Amino acid sequence: MDAQFAKTVLKSGKDQSLKRFHPWVFSGAIKKVYGQVNEGDVVAVYSNKDEFLGIGHYQVGSIAVRVFSFEEITPDINFWKNKLQNAYNLRKQLFSKDNQDTNVFRLVNAEGDGMPGLIIDFYNGVAVMQMHSIGMYLIKEQLKDALVEIMGGELKAVYDKSAKTIPFKSSVEPIDGYLYGSDPDKQVSEYGLTFNVDWELGQKTGFFIDQRENRKLVEDYAKGRDVLNMFCYTGGFSFFAMRGGANLVHSVDSSAKAIALTNENVKLNFPDDSRHEAFAVDAFDYLKDIKDKYNLVVLDPPAFAKHRETLPRALQGYKRLNTRAFEQIRPGGILFTFSCSQVVSKDKFREAVFSGAAIAGRSVKILHQLTQPADHPVNLYHPEGEYLKGLVLYVD
Ligand code: SAH
Repeated sequence: MDAQFAKTVLKSGKDQSLKRFHPWVFSGAIKKVYGQVNEGDVVAVYSNKDEFLGIGHYQVGSIAVRVFSFEEITPDINFWKNKLQNAYNLRKQLFSKDNQDTNVFRLVNAEGDGMPGLIIDFYNGVAVMQMHSIGMYLIKEQLKDALVEIMGGELKAVYDKSAKTIPFKSSVEPIDGYLYGSDPDKQVSEYGLTFNVDWELGQKTGFFIDQRENRKLVEDYAKGRDVLNMFCYTGGFSFFAMRGGANLVHSVDSSAKAIALTNENVKLNFPDDSRHEAFAVDAFDYLKDIKDKYNLVVLDPPAFAKHRETLPRALQGYKRLNTRAFEQIRPGGILFTFSCSQVVSKDKFREAVFSGAAIAGRSVKILHQLTQPADHPVNLYHPEGEYLKGLVLYVD
């Protein structure tokens, strides 16, 4: 390995998690960094007994090093190409080429694919890269070149969308834009339904790809039901419900822009279908006065907790939201309820939902326990990567 990497030595006893392949080094675990180190530099991490532990990207902040290799390698273009190739091969297994039913998936899921700080979502030929660390941001051209080589003609464009995800303390000032190709078609297909995706202006990388299998499950339950899709964003759950034979579908989001996107997508999939209506209203207001109106409700709120400090408030939020839904849903109703907060564990989320049901005094059965799909793999040594939790409940 190249000796030019700054040597980072951990305090005594702080090497355990790295020895178990957890990829994060917290700033408080570091005893000393030898030599000059800048944000985004590659550093080599050693224990207090001078044992090699791993190499990763250095960053100013609570997570000081994101380890991408536990072996003594040189992270050159071939190293990254190999990682990207592995990630791509897995997706090729999951989404066969002749199955054009679904052409939107997550190509690289950060720690889940051994590339902490890097997300790449694939939208029908367009790779949207979102860097969450300076280290990854600084090698974006290399990553793009490697991707172009691996994917060949399958790749029409690469868009960098890191302006909002690069840590605010950093000295780098990212500007979003195309790294390869330009202005491609922005329509994607998910299980045969069509969506316009706006990766330039939309939330995250433009689409909540992680809910694909859960949206599909809504289709199976929708027949003859009156459906409320709360926090609808681009309307995904609504169209699966419509295709599944729902009686009526109401999509609600507080953002007028989201409602406009939903209405656009309705036109693409179900033109002139009077079963659907969309409303730009706050969730808590809407859920006040809909007693027995719906017998299938989807609650897919934004992350209520982004940091550990906000966890108690977030749990209160999930409890309140679910209480409202339990109070209003018609007997015999199905509730799909989710949390995408990384810091809210499966158990804590279930407790919050449980409290909501108890307050509303409803009898409830768990039908399914949901999570993120296989193109969002979780690194077994990094359980924090399992961020999406969902329950499908039968409410008597
Ligand atoms: N279910 C969507 C993703 C939801 S993302 C899908 O399948 O694609 C969360 C959405 O919640 C965002 O669109 C955001 O605008 C909306 N939102 C945030 N706070 C809200 C509130 N208080 N009331 C209603 N919608 C809200």
